[in-house]
Amino acid sequence: MPDLFSKTPRHDADTTVETPRTERQLQAHTCLICGKPAHFGFGVSLLHGIEGRWSCFSHREDVKRRKE
Ligand SMILES: [Zn+2]
Repeated sequence: MPDLFSKTPRHDADTTVETPRTERQLQAHTCLICGKPAHFGFGVSLLHGIEGRWSCFSHREDVKRRKE
């Protein structure tokens, strides 16, 4: 029975070691409160390079009320 976790030497010789990263995390912002991926941005000004404050769904009101 073949083991899924064992590598066959022949296959390794044919392919490069480096694995291409297909899943890139495009969402780089994280919530100010909990650090989870944030989908709500406040005070964001992309034209001026201002990233603003970001929050997740549950903390969006808390972040919104914050004053810098
Ligand atoms: Zn949060």
